[in-house]
Parts: sequence; C-alpha cells; structure tokens
Amino acid sequence: MKALVYQGPGSIEWQEKPAPRIQKPTDAIVKIETTTICGTDLHILKGDVPAVESGRTLGHEGVGVVTEVGEAVTELAVGDRVIISCISACGKCSYCLEGMYSHCLADEGASGIGWILGHLIDGTQAELVRIPFAETSLHKVPEGVSAEEAAMISDILPTGHEIGIRYGAVEPGDVVAVIGAGPVGLAAMTTASLYGPSRVIAIDIDPNRVEQAKRFGASDGVVSSGADWREQVLALTDGLGVDVAIEAVGLPSTWDMSLEIVRPGGHVANVGVHGKPVTFPLESAWIQNLTITTGLVNTDTSRMLIKLLAQGRLDVAGFISHRFSLGDIMDAYDTFGRAAETKALKVILTA
Ligand code: NAD
Ligand code: ZN
Repeated sequence: MKALVYQGPGSIEWQEKPAPRIQKPTDAIVKIETTTICGTDLHILKGDVPAVESGRTLGHEGVGVVTEVGEAVTELAVGDRVIISCISACGKCSYCLEGMYSHCLADEGASGIGWILGHLIDGTQAELVRIPFAETSLHKVPEGVSAEEAAMISDILPTGHEIGIRYGAVEPGDVVAVIGAGPVGLAAMTTASLYGPSRVIAIDIDPNRVEQAKRFGASDGVVSSGADWREQVLALTDGLGVDVAIEAVGLPSTWDMSLEIVRPGGHVANVGVHGKPVTFPLESAWIQNLTITTGLVNTDTSRMLIKLLAQGRLDVAGFISHRFSLGDIMDAYDTFGRAAETKALKVILTA
C-alpha cells in the first residue's frame, strides 16, 4: 500500500509500505476513504515533535471502512464506515474510566498519551491503517453524514469544544475571544454557539481568517496586527475585558495576548501547542481571580458532536477549503503549508 512517510525534519514522501496487519485482538484495520492534514503534522515536519521517528506514517484524522477486526472486537464488523478518533483509548485504564482518554495508560508508546496515531505508531495518511482499541477509538458514521464532514470529528471539533469552550467554561451571555482563527480556533467558535455567548470575537493577524470567522459563528472580528487591537477588543465588552479568552495559536505572544484581554474573574483556555516557553506574570495576575486551563483533547465529547452533526445542528462543511486525491497528498501538504497564501483551512484527501 501507499503511505505518507516522515523521513526526518523537512522531509516526507508518498511511498510504498507493507500493509498493516492485526497485531492484537482489540485491533481493526481500516481502509481510508478520507483523511486530512492537521497543523500538528506541520509541527512534526518542522521537527517540533521529536517523538516522531523517521519511517512513521503521519496522520491522526480520517474516515474509512473496516476491512478486518481482531477476535476481541465484537461491536464493529467488516464493512462498517467509521470515524477515526485522533485519540486511541483502551476504555479500561483508570484515566479512560474517568473519560480522560488523552492520557490512556494502555497506549503502545507506553507514555500515557492517547495521541499515538501518526505520532508513536503509523497513522491515517495511508491507504490502510491499523487502529488499536478499535471499539473505543472508532465511531460509526451516521446515515446522511458525508465522509469529509465526519472527518472534522477526528480532531478539530472536539479540540475546539473541549479544550477551548468547555475548559473555558463558556456560559450564556459571555463575551468570548478566540485568538487564532485556524481550523481549531474556528471549531471553538462553531461550538461556542452551543452555550449561548453574547459575543464571539475572532482575533487573528490574517484579515482573511478574521473575515472567514464570521461564517463560523464569530459575531465580531479584530485584526491583531494593528497597535490598537486590545482597545478594539475591550470596546466590544463593557470595557473590563472578555469573560473567556481562548488561545488557539501556540506562540508566546498570543499567550500574552490572552492575559491582556481577560477580565478579572475570567477564564483563559490555552489550546495552542507551545514549542517555546511562555511567561506567566503571577505577580500581577494573582489578584485577577483568573482560571487558567490547558490540555490535550480527550475526545470525550465526540459522540455528542456526532449526534449534532447527524441532526444538522453543527455546520462543518465550511471547514473544507481544498480537495485532493490521496495520491496527490504531497501537493496537499504544499497547499496546506502555505495557508496564508492559499487560504487553506482543511484539505480533504479522498482515496
Ligand atoms: P493554524 O496554524 O491553522 O492556525 C493558527 C492561526 O493563528 C492562523 O490563522 C494564524 O494566522 C494565526 N496566528 C498566527 N500568529 C498569530 C498572532 N501573532 N496573532 C494572532 N493570530 C496569529 O493552526 P490550527 O490547526 O488551527 O491549530 C491551532 C493550535 O492548536 C496549534 O498550536 C495546534 O498545534 C493546536 N492543537 C492543539 C490540540 C490540543 O489538544 N490542545 C489539538 C490540535 C491542535
Ligand atoms: Zn485507557
């Protein structure tokens, strides 16, 4: 079969590789119908995620058809169409029993991190993928939901919802600011609407992304390259700041921005993956009664999000900006890697 293989920093190749086989009774093999590329894959390509070894097939998102199941898999059958969760969860360890699948202790890297696909084991940017703990890491695609829409549930929707909106404790009437209007920030804006905020402010340096955010539930937009960006944000509140600031970029400067706009008593929810240290001015922040959260997506709300998608209550079609055939994945990486120029959001690869 063909797979997109990481060859060390700066290098990937679409190449022939042996097809995956069932290794454990809880495994399933899935034939990929649709996959996509994540901002995290670009971090890997830059060499920011050293745990990814040369020879690893990338990708942790996708939809496909089950072609083989291990003997312990009874709830899935060959032919089932499934959404692959970016988190592989045994469903039995102490963290899984608490719903914190992101720290599943049974994962094959034995690192207590549920994100193993395209990280510690071969991932979804391939014709076939082996999924460990299949019954608790795959979701059946509901009737009437397309593969490309369903693929938005693998990672971005639960990430924006769980680590942005739920950890940020968004409540009816809140003013919510989302810094970073990439797919993850936009997913936070889309799911914010489930909680009735009075305003959702999209903040980005890219005016095109700020404009696009209006299609994803943002009521207001602020282009943060201007010197008065903070005044613009405060003018959209009662002057005291936002109730919830969501950081969805992963830079020291955007982390600082989130602290600059949150009101006393407010929440800062960090979603961005940070490659560099940030500073936290506790000497001025302590008196602000802030709640600060961060984390890796758990995917514990994926089933709920799938239900809303099936009911037409969650519009995800707008996330898809480009379509390629799976064999043209190198072109897709190029387009996705130049998002500011190409206006790429999610690039869909279809087998
Ligand atoms: P992306 O790169 O597509 O989007 C980032 C956005 O931030 C872009 O629109 C960019 O224009 C904007 N931006 C860059 N610099 C900025 C600045 N100085 N001020 C304001 N905006 C700025 O990324 P994405 O795929 O949307 O992911 C967002 C972040 O979430 C990444 O760090 C990613 O690794 C992380 N992530 C976290 C989890 C988790 O579980 N916590 C899961 C998936 C992704
Ligand atoms: Zn577990």
